[in-house]
Amino acid sequence: MFLAKMNYLEVEEYLKTSDTIIIPVGSLENHGKHMPLGTDTLIPDKIAELIDARAPFVIAPTINYGATDDLVGFAGTVSLGTEGLIALLRTICDQLFAYGFRHFMILNGHGGNSAAIQAVGMHLYRKGAYLANLNWWLMAGQLNPKWGGGHGGGEETAGVMAVDPALIKTEYLTLPENIRNDISDELPTGAWTNVTYKGVSITIPREIRSITDNGWLAHAFGGDVPTRADAEWGREMLNSVADYIADFGAAFSRAPLPGK
Ligand SMILES: [Zn+2]
Repeated sequence: MFLAKMNYLEVEEYLKTSDTIIIPVGSLENHGKHMPLGTDTLIPDKIAELIDARAPFVIAPTINYGATDDLVGFAGTVSLGTEGLIALLRTICDQLFAYGFRHFMILNGHGGNSAAIQAVGMHLYRKGAYLANLNWWLMAGQLNPKWGGGHGGGEETAGVMAVDPALIKTEYLTLPENIRNDISDELPTGAWTNVTYKGVSITIPREIRSITDNGWLAHAFGGDVPTRADAEWGREMLNSVADYIADFGAAFSRAPLPGK
């Protein structure tokens, strides 16, 4: 059930038997020339629709912006920053808490959101509620190792194809990552904003624009290339994630609250 389509009486009725809510959180950010900026919201929105067909959880409106400072500089990317996302998500969760919601599931579309989501999770825990952070792309990779991760790689490309294949600009699918060793030759670029030195990965925060002009990075995460993606992979993957969340959500809802 989508919260935005319910009236307040229906919410009161729901809260008599359940205190579980799903909040999708996405991002508006570059994913490479072949992908739309809304990839990290389009995929969670699709998963939310699939969950709704399987389970009776209330689903709140999606937060369409996230914490994505690394990708600022590619036109159209907008970041709330971690502090902005904490403030927004905490405000929403506190008000939902006041109505009686206690089991919060965040359906997350973007890795950069995790620090904010986890901070809000600890805030809710201290008030006597639980938050579960559901990172769909990591869950997919654990449900089937063939569905490897990465940013704008095969996994996300397949996910968007499951939403609408027309959203993929196929003429750019074969563009390489074009990773630059932008810090120095001695400190080659690794996964995301990490560099690798003597086999050890070290994070040096900086804009992805200085690492690649294209903006998709998958190999260093063990992810697949976008050219391998197809809509069938995407559909199978998003359905599996939705099946899993329907089951997990039932078990999570039954979990006694902290201190109870
Ligand atoms: Zn993404």
